[in-house]
Amino acid sequence: EALDQGLQKTKEGFFSKLAKAVAGKDKVDEEVLDQVEDALISADVGVDTTVAIINRIEQRVARDKYLGTSQLNDILQEEIMSMLTSAPSNEFATFDVPAGKKPYVILVVGVNGVGKTTTIGKLAHNFKKNGKSVLLGAADTFRAAAVDQLTIWSDRVGVPIVKKEMGSDPSSVAFDAVQSAIARDSDVVIIDTAGRLHNKAYLMDELGKIRRVISKKMPDAPHEVLLVLDGSTGQNAIEQARHFTAATDVTAIAVTKLDGTAKGGVVLAIANQFRIPVKYIGVGERMEDLQIFDKAEFVDSLFS
Ligand code: GDP
Repeated sequence: EALDQGLQKTKEGFFSKLAKAVAGKDKVDEEVLDQVEDALISADVGVDTTVAIINRIEQRVARDKYLGTSQLNDILQEEIMSMLTSAPSNEFATFDVPAGKKPYVILVVGVNGVGKTTTIGKLAHNFKKNGKSVLLGAADTFRAAAVDQLTIWSDRVGVPIVKKEMGSDPSSVAFDAVQSAIARDSDVVIIDTAGRLHNKAYLMDELGKIRRVISKKMPDAPHEVLLVLDGSTGQNAIEQARHFTAATDVTAIAVTKLDGTAKGGVVLAIANQFRIPVKYIGVGERMEDLQIFDKAEFVDSLFS
């Protein structure tokens, strides 16, 4: 239900275009398909994904000789779903962490403003609600506002935070956070990092150092590197995903702000394009507004 609401703008945008495309027409023809293509592009499903979907519908039209416009919805849903079958799926259907990895170390990366801090707060809330003890690490030591925001979330959710003065070495904060989580017997430690995308070498060095230092404390950590992307920026989010996946080994993606945008199709493009599972989606500003991404549920919700 929250998902349906969160996708409202995307649905309105897409289906009003689709309705126009088929208005007064019984048969799916070139003209209809051109407009379906426009509707998919507007929803930021991405050019490659759109072209692939249109090609598949064209093949169906050629094969069956006739395709009624009344079938278009069902066929689109089917084609989008089948495109997604090869996209990696989530390992967990709930806010849980694997056994034998305690504390489970999540390093959160992404450009400033995408909703990183908010997503960390929401994650902490959900893990805690699911009976896990959580600790936060404020390793974005470049922006006072980032530490302040994270502190507010730690108070709000009621979980401890490890932080240091501005300008401290981010990797030393990360180290302390992991150490503190071990000492407290925490289940999960979520570490915020600076979202500076000045240049790739810089990002690689900085994240590389944080990773090395963490693994000194815990050899198999970080267990997860979560990239946060702002869904309302559409193709920009794809561009950021390219940069970050080139700079470091990203293992999961969160797409935020889907509630405020008609570009929700970008989740499909991201799921399709990178061999990395989209694990979470943000559909609002409240703690409850983080959901575990499920391909089938998402597509169902788009078409319901
Ligand atoms: P950061 O700079 O990446 O840490 O970004 P913040 O977490 O501070 O978020 C930036 C803004 O986006 C804040 O006003 C958040 O409330 C808002 N925000 C984050 N996630 C969502 C979401 O899923 N939906 C909406 N509507 N707003 C969000």
